[in-house]
Amino acid sequence: MNREIDLSETCYGRVRDLQYDLAVLPWGATEPHNLHLPYLTDCILAHDIAVDAARKALETCGVCCMVLPPVSMGSQNPGQRELPFCIHARYETQKAILTDIASSLRAQGMRRLVIVNGHGGNCFKNMIRDLAVEMPDLLIAAGDWYAACPAQDFFDEPGDHADELETSVMMHYHPELVNLAEAGPGTSKPFAARMLNEKVAWVPRDWRRVSQDTGIGDPANATAGKGRRFAEAVAGRFAELFCELARGPVYRD
Ligand SMILES: [Zn+2]
Repeated sequence: MNREIDLSETCYGRVRDLQYDLAVLPWGATEPHNLHLPYLTDCILAHDIAVDAARKALETCGVCCMVLPPVSMGSQNPGQRELPFCIHARYETQKAILTDIASSLRAQGMRRLVIVNGHGGNCFKNMIRDLAVEMPDLLIAAGDWYAACPAQDFFDEPGDHADELETSVMMHYHPELVNLAEAGPGTSKPFAARMLNEKVAWVPRDWRRVSQDTGIGDPANATAGKGRRFAEAVAGRFAELFCELARGPVYRD
């Protein structure tokens, strides 16, 4: 039970007398994840990493974080958003959601909000810049949990989406939600335009032109053990982040 740190499990009676230093917002998506992972994978993993990090922050430095319910509205590429039940959230929608969450928390006295992002299509930088103008006394930070530690140190063949990394971490937290035997190979095609492959410019990848099974990266070598080691390392990094943002100065003198 995480009754002090996870809003999905707690009640007003547990939180009303506690002083919270920081709010944590897991943000995912609702989208196909190859043929073997649930649509809600990005929400589930961002949430579980956030809760582990919040628990570590409480244990190691006494910082009290509350993990909010994950946001399921993610930004989707063309070719993915046409698939059944994939939900694309526009920039304006995501900004409205973040603005409402930030202004509610701020009115309650919260001054620190960290987004733990689980979906590669989400990008919060410009909306956070706007909110920094509107709410200068609320610090909003955003980090991608899957990029907090070098994936190549933990996995044989990390990819982009529903890959060995995501599959392993899901096998660690929720093995009952993974059906690896049904997974496609997650093979992806590069662009014909070489300069796009070399990232001279960015365009959203048309998912159906890139992947047959919606996956990018082969999940075949995923194991719960790899997932546990990576999740622990990532949660440790986010716990340190929470402690630093809650207690220390952000800037040097
Ligand atoms: Zn994902």
